[in-house]
Amino acid sequence: MDIKQHIREVPDFPKPGILFYDISTLLMHPGAWQHTVRQMADAIAPHKPDLLAGIESRGFLVSAPLALMLGCGFIMLRKKGKLPGATVRHEYDLEYGSDIIEIQEGAVQPGQKVVLVDDLLATGGTLAAAAELIRKVGGQVPAAACIIELTFLNGRDKLDMPITTLAQYD
Ligand code: 5GP
Repeated sequence: MDIKQHIREVPDFPKPGILFYDISTLLMHPGAWQHTVRQMADAIAPHKPDLLAGIESRGFLVSAPLALMLGCGFIMLRKKGKLPGATVRHEYDLEYGSDIIEIQEGAVQPGQKVVLVDDLLATGGTLAAAAELIRKVGGQVPAAACIIELTFLNGRDKLDMPITTLAQYD
């Protein structure tokens, strides 16, 4: 099955000149979505994760069914101010300005293997920041996985762990 057939390309979103790859159409198609989640599970399983970390917000949609399938825990990496209770944060640079991601204190036990999951790899900034945050709280990051990769942005060069993607655009 070619999952690209189920990914909608939306021109000029969120800004003029940006082509947005929309996974809503993939989620709407149960066969294609099941195939996607199974392929992701096959790629992640050899890394034997204790936890999957989903990145807000579409990363949650991918990692929640994957965690069930793989029989591991699921934790959320969120934008600042969204998680209740004590959190640990990591601030990272964007093209213009900076951003903050947070994790709940105690979500990761030291030494646990945490595989990062998101819908799309673009510049790699988000996954690189997520990896730094997991390591800051004592976790290991053996791998990352995304459905889509925009290869022309060379996001992989920013990442120091193996990353699996199912559909590449160049
Ligand atoms: P990066 O930090 O690698 O530049 O950007 C990746 C993040 O931006 C991901 O969390 C992803 O959800 C979001 N993103 C950027 N462009 C797109 C796009 O075209 N489609 C989707 N679905 N997400 C995008």
